[in-house]
Amino acid sequence: MATLAVHNPRTGQFLYEVEEAGDETVTAVFQRARAVQPQIAAMSVAERAREIVKISDYLVAHREAIIDRLVAETGKTRFEALSNELFEVCGGIDYFRDAAPKILADRKAPTPLVLLGKKSKIVFEPLGTVLVIAPWNYPLVQCFTPSLQAFLAGNAVVFKPSEVTPLRGLYEEIMRGAGFMPDAIQIVYGGKEVGARLIQQRPDKIHFTGSSRAGRQVMAAAAEHLIPVELELGGKDAAIVFADVEVEKAANGIVWAAFTNAGQACTAVERCFVEEPIYEEFVAAAVKIAQNLRVATAKQDGRLPDTCDMGSMTAEFQVQIVEKQLAEAVAAGANVLCGGARQPDSLFFPPTVVVDVTQEMALGREETFGPVLPIMKFQTEAEAIALANDSPYGLGASVWSADLARAERVARALKVGNVAINNHMLTEANPALPYGGVKASGYGRYKGDWGLLGFSNVKALMIGGDNDHIESHWYPFTPTKYALFGRLMEAFFRRPRAWVGFLRSALPFDSLGSKEKIQ
Ligand code: NAD
Repeated sequence: MATLAVHNPRTGQFLYEVEEAGDETVTAVFQRARAVQPQIAAMSVAERAREIVKISDYLVAHREAIIDRLVAETGKTRFEALSNELFEVCGGIDYFRDAAPKILADRKAPTPLVLLGKKSKIVFEPLGTVLVIAPWNYPLVQCFTPSLQAFLAGNAVVFKPSEVTPLRGLYEEIMRGAGFMPDAIQIVYGGKEVGARLIQQRPDKIHFTGSSRAGRQVMAAAAEHLIPVELELGGKDAAIVFADVEVEKAANGIVWAAFTNAGQACTAVERCFVEEPIYEEFVAAAVKIAQNLRVATAKQDGRLPDTCDMGSMTAEFQVQIVEKQLAEAVAAGANVLCGGARQPDSLFFPPTVVVDVTQEMALGREETFGPVLPIMKFQTEAEAIALANDSPYGLGASVWSADLARAERVARALKVGNVAINNHMLTEANPALPYGGVKASGYGRYKGDWGLLGFSNVKALMIGGDNDHIESHWYPFTPTKYALFGRLMEAFFRRPRAWVGFLRSALPFDSLGSKEKIQ
């Protein structure tokens, strides 16, 4: 059986090997998931919510040890592990603990007058077993955020972490230590072949987070079995900065959003469009802030200081993508104002600000997923919107302006799944807001109501009484019925509507309210 060798990206130190799951393991995992799922479904949503709170309690109590593991495998800073991973998972749990029972409660739906006497309801039922496949940039969030939502909706979960950051044993340790329901979320290790094999087990839904390239493959494999998929894919987020902003604040926010997690965030700022009058001032401010970031170095051994702003990148192949895009951009006329080259023999890439980038260059068009901030100029609001929308991706964006009406107008014009105004990535910090993208950034939404409903069979119920009434649309069809339905159509749907008078004269309804009340 193949094994994955895992290294610390900051030090290069070999950490451990983990065996990739073989066919037998994959089959057994799905058998266990299907065996436990009816027990999960039988629990009330409130009981499931109490179960997920145990995970939060464990994360709070054991956070330093968990941060050690996250930092060792991703190269991110301790603050990023704390704020973007543990804090975010706990924030989601805190929200869903109270919100899930309400979101998943049965809902009444209005019943049209033609169906008088019946009641309509919507009920939310589990799908069965959900397969969650994750990338390597936020391995704790990408496991627990979707998996716990799927569990809350009554599903069993099979989770495959990335082969780059498998965190061997950590997820299991957290769930076991927390006393979380055994087998409700199971972990399967391996690369994309294992991911493909898991899909062949025909889960009832796939929640995939990763590259657009792999998303296409996952969707194609899922299509064979008509498995519903939700795709959270790559991005090329734009930040649009108008001339009326507080330049220093906007520059600080955008520098953070470009370099957080060493730029390896799907909603990192990868294109910054600045209105012409403040362009020079903004670029100068961004370069100054970027140059002052305290970047960890390859030579630092042991635990990174808590004051470190930026860690290392996580994977050699990702550094090479950054280098290739930058080299091509520079060859085509782009200018690097700071950063631009990795520290030798390491995965440390400094914060890099680039100007004179065009959207014909890969750096302006394809996902970079590294600490590079291209800053470009625009003249008008319409031009800024057109530039931002000129992208194969549509994940997130931000608009920076003192004029909130304009900022919202622009936000609405952007073809993306989420927009923050005078901030970036901030919609993600609110678990009540839906998250997802459009275009090559995928589709489907999770978090908020949509997260739980996306992991549910949204079932419609129409309840009629048991009586001797034969419905008029049942057999036999007769000329009288045909005429009646024609008249009903006229009455209900021809404008202006005359159906109140019609019903009074044509049907034996005496329970209708006044004309004013029901029209
Ligand atoms: P990747 O697509 O290479 O791999 C992601 C996961 O999918 C891994 O677990 C991998 O083993 C698995 N996989 C790959 N091909 C597969 C296949 N054919 N069948 C089944 N499983 C397969 O992505 P990555 O390099 O790990 O992560 C970086 C990408 O993830 C970036 O594009 C980034 O933007 C994206 N991402 C998106 C979001 C989001 O929410 N939209 C969040 C984080 C990362």
